[in-house]
Amino acid sequence: MSLLIERFELGDFATNCYVVRDDADRSKSCWIIDCSYSPEPMLDFIEQQGLKPSLCILTHCHCDHIAGLSKMKLRLGPVNVLCHRAEAGFNEDPNLNLSAFIPPGIQAPPVDAYINEGQMLELGSYYFKILHTPGHSPGGITLWCEKASVALVGDTLFQGSIGRIDFPTSDLEDMKHSLMEVLMTLPDATTIYPGHGEQSTIGIERKSNPYLRPNAL
Ligand SMILES: [Zn+2]
Ligand SMILES: [Zn+2]
Repeated sequence: MSLLIERFELGDFATNCYVVRDDADRSKSCWIIDCSYSPEPMLDFIEQQGLKPSLCILTHCHCDHIAGLSKMKLRLGPVNVLCHRAEAGFNEDPNLNLSAFIPPGIQAPPVDAYINEGQMLELGSYYFKILHTPGHSPGGITLWCEKASVALVGDTLFQGSIGRIDFPTSDLEDMKHSLMEVLMTLPDATTIYPGHGEQSTIGIERKSNPYLRPNAL
């Protein structure tokens, strides 16, 4: 029995989108975490494996994490899409989802429901806790599964780097808090799955990430 996390690096921004499932779950239920430009390889995989997406959870609503939502809904039918309430309206607004700055502007389908800090979501025999990790964007979230020692961190923390904080809706103080008071409180053995680049662990980043040194931000 294990938690399977399949990574798809999609679109021109090399955005990591993930298909997550409990391999012991006979219902073949899965989650889609983010859905970027050119999502076909991920959608093909889901169809070929006979998986049944129960949720699409958005780590945040920048265009490179939402641009494939229309195609996903066309291919897979209704899948409930969730994001943090602080990004209500981002999908539909090219200025907020940043696609206005890299045309064509993207208007993705609105989310179906919001998720909140501290909420627990169940996938097979695993529970994920939603951690609000704003800074890169106001509604950034991390999905943390303590049992599997896994955290999907979106664009907050990368291997050796952190997400950009120079966008109109970014916030430096929020980023510092999310990194130091939220993510760095997770156990060292936690594997992180970021929105871009390779996976790492909290322990490795705590030791070697230059942005996590005192007064680096
Ligand atoms: Zn982003
Ligand atoms: Zn991104």
